[in-house]
Amino acid sequence: MMMEAEEQPRKTAFYSKLPKVELHAHLNGSISSNTIKKLIAKKPDLKIHGQMTMIDKGKKRTLEECLHMFQIIHLLTTSPEDVLMVTKDVIKEFADDGVKYLELRSTPRGENTTGMTKKTYVESILEGIKQSKEENVDIDVRYLISIDRRGGPSAAKEAVKLAEEFFLSAEDTVLGLDLSGDPAAGQAKDFLEPLLEAKKSGLKLALHLSEIPNRKTETQVLLNLFPDRIGHGTFLSSSEEGSSDLVDFVRQHQIPLELCLTSNIKSQTVPSYDQHHFGFWYSIAHPAVICTDDKGVFATRLSQEYQLAAETFHLTQSQVWDLSYESINYIFASDSTKADLRKKWSHLKPHF
Ligand SMILES: [Zn+2]
Repeated sequence: MMMEAEEQPRKTAFYSKLPKVELHAHLNGSISSNTIKKLIAKKPDLKIHGQMTMIDKGKKRTLEECLHMFQIIHLLTTSPEDVLMVTKDVIKEFADDGVKYLELRSTPRGENTTGMTKKTYVESILEGIKQSKEENVDIDVRYLISIDRRGGPSAAKEAVKLAEEFFLSAEDTVLGLDLSGDPAAGQAKDFLEPLLEAKKSGLKLALHLSEIPNRKTETQVLLNLFPDRIGHGTFLSSSEEGSSDLVDFVRQHQIPLELCLTSNIKSQTVPSYDQHHFGFWYSIAHPAVICTDDKGVFATRLSQEYQLAAETFHLTQSQVWDLSYESINYIFASDSTKADLRKKWSHLKPHF
Protein backbone atom coordinates (compact mmCIF):
# COMPACT_ATOMS: atom_id res chain seq x y z
CA MET A 1 0.00 0.00 0.00
CA MET A 2 1.17 3.50 -0.89
CA MET A 3 0.52 4.90 2.56
CA GLU A 4 2.86 2.46 4.27
CA ALA A 5 5.59 2.92 1.71
CA GLU A 6 5.50 6.67 2.32
CA GLU A 7 5.30 6.26 6.06
CA GLN A 8 8.71 4.57 6.46
CA PRO A 9 11.09 7.34 5.30
CA ARG A 10 9.11 9.95 7.25
CA LYS A 11 9.41 7.86 10.40
CA THR A 12 13.12 7.36 9.91
CA ALA A 13 13.54 11.13 9.41
CA PHE A 14 12.03 11.80 12.85
CA TYR A 15 14.70 9.65 14.51
CA SER A 16 17.64 11.04 12.55
CA LYS A 17 16.51 14.64 13.20
CA LEU A 18 15.93 13.90 16.88
CA PRO A 19 18.88 15.45 18.77
CA LYS A 20 20.61 12.63 20.60
CA VAL A 21 23.21 11.85 23.23
CA GLU A 22 25.50 8.82 22.74
CA LEU A 23 27.13 7.61 25.94
CA HIS A 24 28.26 4.06 25.13
CA ALA A 25 30.36 3.91 21.97
CA HIS A 26 33.62 1.98 21.68
CA LEU A 27 35.82 3.72 19.13
CA ASN A 28 37.09 0.62 17.31
CA GLY A 29 33.66 -1.04 17.24
CA SER A 30 32.13 2.16 15.88
CA ILE A 31 34.26 2.24 12.71
CA SER A 32 31.94 2.19 9.68
CA SER A 33 32.37 -0.13 6.70
CA ASN A 34 33.50 2.90 4.65
CA THR A 35 36.37 3.63 7.01
CA ILE A 36 37.21 -0.08 7.26
CA LYS A 37 37.59 -0.06 3.45
CA LYS A 38 40.06 2.83 3.70
CA LEU A 39 42.04 0.97 6.37
CA ILE A 40 42.05 -2.27 4.37
CA ALA A 41 43.38 -0.35 1.35
CA LYS A 42 46.28 0.86 3.51
CA LYS A 43 47.08 -2.70 4.64
CA PRO A 44 46.35 -5.05 1.71
CA ASP A 45 48.81 -7.67 2.98
CA LEU A 46 46.52 -8.53 5.89
CA LYS A 47 43.91 -9.96 3.48
CA ILE A 48 41.04 -8.76 5.67
CA HIS A 49 37.64 -8.26 4.09
CA GLY A 50 34.58 -6.31 5.22
CA GLN A 51 32.48 -9.24 6.48
CA MET A 52 35.17 -10.02 9.04
CA THR A 53 34.46 -6.76 10.87
CA MET A 54 30.70 -6.26 10.53
CA ILE A 55 27.57 -8.31 11.26
CA ASP A 56 24.96 -7.72 8.57
CA LYS A 57 21.24 -7.22 9.15
CA GLY A 58 19.50 -10.31 10.48
CA LYS A 59 22.77 -12.12 11.21
CA LYS A 60 24.00 -13.05 14.67
CA ARG A 61 27.29 -14.07 16.25
CA THR A 62 28.26 -15.33 19.67
CA LEU A 63 29.77 -12.86 22.11
CA GLU A 64 33.13 -14.65 21.66
CA GLU A 65 32.95 -14.22 17.87
CA CYS A 66 32.19 -10.52 18.36
CA LEU A 67 35.23 -10.15 20.58
CA HIS A 68 37.32 -11.81 17.87
CA MET A 69 36.11 -9.18 15.39
CA PHE A 70 37.69 -6.52 17.59
CA GLN A 71 41.04 -8.26 17.35
CA ILE A 72 40.79 -8.03 13.55
CA ILE A 73 39.90 -4.32 13.73
CA HIS A 74 42.92 -3.75 16.00
CA LEU A 75 45.15 -5.14 13.22
CA LEU A 76 43.81 -2.36 11.00
CA THR A 77 44.32 0.51 13.47
CA THR A 78 47.98 0.29 14.41
CA SER A 79 49.38 3.80 13.90
CA PRO A 80 48.56 7.23 15.39
CA GLU A 81 47.44 8.28 11.85
CA ASP A 82 44.97 5.36 11.70
CA VAL A 83 43.59 6.28 15.13
CA LEU A 84 43.26 9.94 14.15
CA MET A 85 41.43 9.03 10.94
CA VAL A 86 38.99 6.62 12.59
CA THR A 87 38.29 9.09 15.41
CA LYS A 88 37.41 11.86 12.95
CA ASP A 89 35.31 9.58 10.74
CA VAL A 90 33.38 8.15 13.69
CA ILE A 91 32.70 11.64 15.11
CA LYS A 92 31.48 12.86 11.71
CA GLU A 93 29.16 9.85 11.32
CA PHE A 94 27.61 10.34 14.75
CA ALA A 95 27.11 14.04 13.98
CA ASP A 96 25.47 13.18 10.63
CA ASP A 97 23.04 10.96 12.54
CA GLY A 98 21.92 13.85 14.76
CA VAL A 99 24.10 13.08 17.79
CA LYS A 100 24.88 16.37 19.58
CA TYR A 101 26.93 15.02 22.48
CA LEU A 102 29.15 11.94 22.33
CA GLU A 103 31.30 10.14 24.88
CA LEU A 104 33.70 7.90 23.00
CA ARG A 105 35.55 5.16 24.85
CA SER A 106 38.70 3.27 23.90
CA THR A 107 41.51 1.28 25.50
CA PRO A 108 44.96 2.89 25.07
CA ARG A 109 46.97 0.50 22.92
CA GLY A 110 50.67 0.37 22.10
CA GLU A 111 51.98 -1.16 18.84
CA ASN A 112 55.63 -2.14 18.48
CA THR A 113 55.44 -2.23 14.67
CA THR A 114 54.59 1.46 14.34
CA GLY A 115 56.00 2.86 17.57
CA MET A 116 52.54 3.90 18.75
CA THR A 117 52.45 4.05 22.54
CA LYS A 118 49.45 4.05 24.86
CA LYS A 119 50.07 7.74 25.36
CA THR A 120 50.27 8.64 21.65
CA TYR A 121 47.14 6.51 21.14
CA VAL A 122 45.26 8.70 23.62
CA GLU A 123 46.77 11.85 22.07
CA SER A 124 45.60 10.78 18.59
CA ILE A 125 42.02 10.46 19.81
CA LEU A 126 42.24 13.86 21.51
CA GLU A 127 43.67 15.33 18.30
CA GLY A 128 40.76 13.86 16.32
CA ILE A 129 38.31 15.45 18.77
CA LYS A 130 40.13 18.77 18.55
CA GLN A 131 40.25 18.80 14.73
CA SER A 132 36.55 17.92 14.48
CA LYS A 133 35.78 20.88 16.71
CA GLU A 134 37.97 23.18 14.61
CA GLU A 135 36.15 21.96 11.50
CA ASN A 136 32.86 22.96 13.18
CA VAL A 137 31.33 19.49 13.22
CA ASP A 138 28.11 20.07 15.19
CA ILE A 139 28.81 17.73 18.11
CA ASP A 140 30.40 17.95 21.57
CA VAL A 141 32.80 15.01 22.06
CA ARG A 142 34.43 13.65 25.22
CA TYR A 143 36.62 10.64 25.89
CA LEU A 144 36.46 7.87 28.48
CA ILE A 145 39.61 5.80 28.81
CA SER A 146 38.76 2.10 28.77
CA ILE A 147 40.21 -0.63 30.91
CA ASP A 148 40.21 -3.88 28.96
CA ARG A 149 39.60 -6.70 31.44
CA ARG A 150 42.02 -8.94 29.54
CA GLY A 151 44.88 -6.60 30.44
CA GLY A 152 44.52 -7.47 34.15
CA PRO A 153 45.33 -5.17 37.08
CA SER A 154 48.63 -3.82 35.73
CA ALA A 155 47.13 -2.47 32.48
CA ALA A 156 44.22 -1.16 34.55
CA LYS A 157 46.60 0.82 36.73
CA GLU A 158 48.34 2.21 33.65
CA ALA A 159 44.99 3.26 32.16
CA VAL A 160 44.06 5.06 35.38
CA LYS A 161 47.41 6.89 35.38
CA LEU A 162 46.80 8.06 31.81
CA ALA A 163 43.24 9.08 32.63
CA GLU A 164 44.45 11.10 35.63
CA GLU A 165 47.12 12.79 33.54
CA PHE A 166 44.77 13.76 30.71
CA PHE A 167 41.91 14.57 33.10
CA LEU A 168 44.06 17.44 34.29
CA SER A 169 45.60 18.49 30.97
CA ALA A 170 42.98 17.86 28.27
CA GLU A 171 40.55 20.67 29.11
CA ASP A 172 37.50 18.67 30.18
CA THR A 173 37.75 16.13 27.38
CA VAL A 174 38.86 13.07 29.36
CA LEU A 175 36.11 12.66 31.93
CA GLY A 176 36.27 9.12 33.20
CA LEU A 177 36.96 5.44 32.83
CA ASP A 178 35.16 2.49 31.32
CA LEU A 179 35.63 -1.13 32.36
CA SER A 180 34.99 -3.42 29.40
CA GLY A 181 36.30 -6.25 27.25
CA ASP A 182 35.64 -9.98 27.56
CA PRO A 183 33.26 -10.20 30.55
CA ALA A 184 34.61 -13.70 31.30
CA ALA A 185 38.22 -12.45 31.60
CA GLY A 186 39.62 -11.68 35.05
CA GLN A 187 37.68 -10.92 38.19
CA ALA A 188 36.10 -7.68 39.35
CA LYS A 189 38.25 -7.59 42.46
CA ASP A 190 41.39 -7.31 40.27
CA PHE A 191 40.18 -3.88 39.18
CA LEU A 192 38.89 -2.50 42.46
CA GLU A 193 42.04 -0.73 43.55
CA PRO A 194 42.66 1.20 40.29
CA LEU A 195 38.95 2.02 39.94
CA LEU A 196 38.80 3.36 43.48
CA GLU A 197 41.87 5.47 42.84
CA ALA A 198 40.26 6.87 39.70
CA LYS A 199 37.14 7.74 41.65
CA LYS A 200 39.20 9.56 44.27
CA SER A 201 40.81 11.63 41.51
CA GLY A 202 37.39 12.81 40.38
CA LEU A 203 37.11 10.59 37.31
CA LYS A 204 33.66 9.17 36.54
CA LEU A 205 33.10 5.43 36.20
CA ALA A 206 31.04 3.67 33.51
CA LEU A 207 31.25 -0.06 34.17
CA HIS A 208 30.09 -2.92 31.95
CA LEU A 209 28.38 -5.28 34.35
CA SER A 210 26.04 -8.25 34.42
CA GLU A 211 26.63 -8.68 30.67
CA ILE A 212 26.65 -12.47 30.94
CA PRO A 213 24.70 -14.74 33.34
CA ASN A 214 25.89 -16.12 36.69
CA ARG A 215 27.96 -13.14 37.76
CA LYS A 216 26.05 -12.07 40.85
CA THR A 217 29.02 -11.77 43.24
CA GLU A 218 31.07 -9.89 40.67
CA THR A 219 28.15 -7.57 39.92
CA GLN A 220 27.76 -6.82 43.62
CA VAL A 221 31.49 -6.05 43.92
CA LEU A 222 31.29 -3.58 41.02
CA LEU A 223 28.05 -2.01 42.27
CA ASN A 224 29.69 -1.41 45.65
CA LEU A 225 31.93 1.09 43.85
CA PHE A 226 28.79 3.14 43.12
CA PRO A 227 29.52 3.46 39.40
CA ASP A 228 28.21 6.63 37.74
CA ARG A 229 26.67 4.55 34.95
CA ILE A 230 26.16 0.86 34.14
CA GLY A 231 26.91 -0.62 30.71
CA HIS A 232 24.26 -3.19 29.64
CA GLY A 233 23.32 -4.69 33.03
CA THR A 234 21.63 -7.38 30.94
CA PHE A 235 21.19 -10.00 33.65
CA LEU A 236 20.38 -7.70 36.56
CA SER A 237 16.68 -8.05 35.91
CA SER A 238 16.28 -11.25 33.84
CA SER A 239 13.74 -13.73 35.16
CA GLU A 240 16.12 -16.68 35.58
CA GLU A 241 19.33 -14.93 36.57
CA GLY A 242 18.02 -11.69 37.95
CA SER A 243 18.15 -10.72 41.54
CA SER A 244 15.76 -8.37 43.25
CA ASP A 245 18.44 -7.07 45.62
CA LEU A 246 20.69 -6.03 42.71
CA VAL A 247 17.76 -4.32 40.99
CA ASP A 248 16.83 -2.65 44.28
CA PHE A 249 20.39 -1.39 44.73
CA VAL A 250 20.49 0.09 41.23
CA ARG A 251 17.07 1.69 41.74
CA GLN A 252 17.83 3.01 45.19
CA HIS A 253 20.99 4.73 43.95
CA GLN A 254 19.37 5.74 40.65
CA ILE A 255 22.37 4.48 38.66
CA PRO A 256 21.67 5.12 34.96
CA LEU A 257 21.92 2.22 32.52
CA GLU A 258 23.42 2.40 29.02
CA LEU A 259 21.26 0.08 26.91
CA CYS A 260 22.29 -1.21 23.47
CA LEU A 261 19.51 -3.23 21.87
CA THR A 262 21.01 -4.41 18.57
CA SER A 263 24.36 -5.20 20.19
CA ASN A 264 22.70 -7.53 22.72
CA ILE A 265 20.55 -9.22 20.07
CA LYS A 266 23.38 -9.72 17.54
CA SER A 267 25.79 -11.00 20.19
CA GLN A 268 22.96 -13.20 21.52
CA THR A 269 22.89 -12.19 25.17
CA VAL A 270 19.22 -11.19 24.66
CA PRO A 271 17.00 -13.50 22.54
CA SER A 272 14.83 -10.85 20.81
CA TYR A 273 14.07 -7.12 20.77
CA ASP A 274 10.80 -7.51 22.68
CA GLN A 275 12.62 -9.35 25.46
CA HIS A 276 15.25 -6.64 25.83
CA HIS A 277 15.63 -5.32 29.39
CA PHE A 278 14.95 -1.79 28.12
CA GLY A 279 11.27 -2.78 28.56
CA PHE A 280 11.72 -3.55 32.25
CA TRP A 281 13.74 -0.45 33.16
CA TYR A 282 11.53 1.85 31.09
CA SER A 283 8.39 0.47 32.71
CA ILE A 284 9.69 1.44 36.16
CA ALA A 285 10.88 4.87 34.89
CA HIS A 286 14.50 4.13 35.80
CA PRO A 287 17.20 6.33 34.15
CA ALA A 288 18.17 4.56 30.92
CA VAL A 289 20.02 5.81 27.87
CA ILE A 290 19.76 4.22 24.42
CA CYS A 291 23.23 3.66 22.94
CA THR A 292 24.87 1.80 20.05
CA ASP A 293 27.87 0.07 21.74
CA ASP A 294 29.57 -0.69 18.38
CA LYS A 295 27.74 0.89 15.48
CA GLY A 296 30.26 -0.47 12.94
CA VAL A 297 30.40 -4.08 14.08
CA PHE A 298 26.63 -4.27 14.63
CA ALA A 299 25.78 -2.25 11.50
CA THR A 300 23.50 0.22 13.25
CA ARG A 301 23.05 3.93 14.03
CA LEU A 302 21.80 5.65 17.14
CA SER A 303 18.71 6.90 15.27
CA GLN A 304 17.96 3.30 14.32
CA GLU A 305 18.32 2.14 17.93
CA TYR A 306 15.80 4.79 19.04
CA GLN A 307 13.42 3.69 16.32
CA LEU A 308 13.78 0.02 17.27
CA ALA A 309 13.13 0.82 20.94
CA ALA A 310 10.13 2.96 20.03
CA GLU A 311 8.58 0.41 17.67
CA THR A 312 9.25 -2.56 19.95
CA PHE A 313 7.94 -0.93 23.11
CA HIS A 314 5.24 1.26 21.48
CA LEU A 315 6.61 4.66 22.48
CA THR A 316 5.02 7.81 21.12
CA GLN A 317 7.18 10.48 19.46
CA SER A 318 6.77 12.61 22.55
CA GLN A 319 8.01 9.76 24.77
CA VAL A 320 10.99 9.26 22.45
CA TRP A 321 11.75 12.96 22.71
CA ASP A 322 11.66 12.79 26.52
CA LEU A 323 13.94 9.74 26.47
CA SER A 324 16.52 11.63 24.45
CA TYR A 325 16.10 14.86 26.48
CA GLU A 326 16.49 13.04 29.80
CA SER A 327 19.69 11.36 28.63
CA ILE A 328 21.36 14.79 29.00
CA ASN A 329 21.05 14.28 32.79
CA TYR A 330 23.43 11.31 32.65
CA ILE A 331 26.36 12.74 30.69
CA PHE A 332 29.71 13.05 32.49
CA ALA A 333 30.38 16.65 31.39
CA SER A 334 29.65 19.63 33.63
CA ASP A 335 26.33 21.21 34.51
CA SER A 336 27.03 24.11 32.14
CA THR A 337 27.38 21.65 29.23
CA LYS A 338 24.09 20.06 30.30
CA ALA A 339 22.47 23.50 30.28
CA ASP A 340 23.83 24.21 26.78
CA LEU A 341 22.50 20.90 25.49
CA ARG A 342 19.05 21.51 27.02
CA LYS A 343 18.95 24.84 25.20
CA LYS A 344 19.87 23.13 21.95
CA TRP A 345 17.11 20.56 22.45
CA SER A 346 14.48 23.19 23.15
CA HIS A 347 15.37 25.00 19.90
CA LEU A 348 14.93 21.77 17.97
CA LYS A 349 11.76 20.53 19.61
CA PRO A 350 8.99 19.77 17.10
CA HIS A 351 5.22 20.05 17.74
CA PHE A 352 3.84 16.63 18.44
ZN1 LIG B 1 30.27 -1.92 25.43
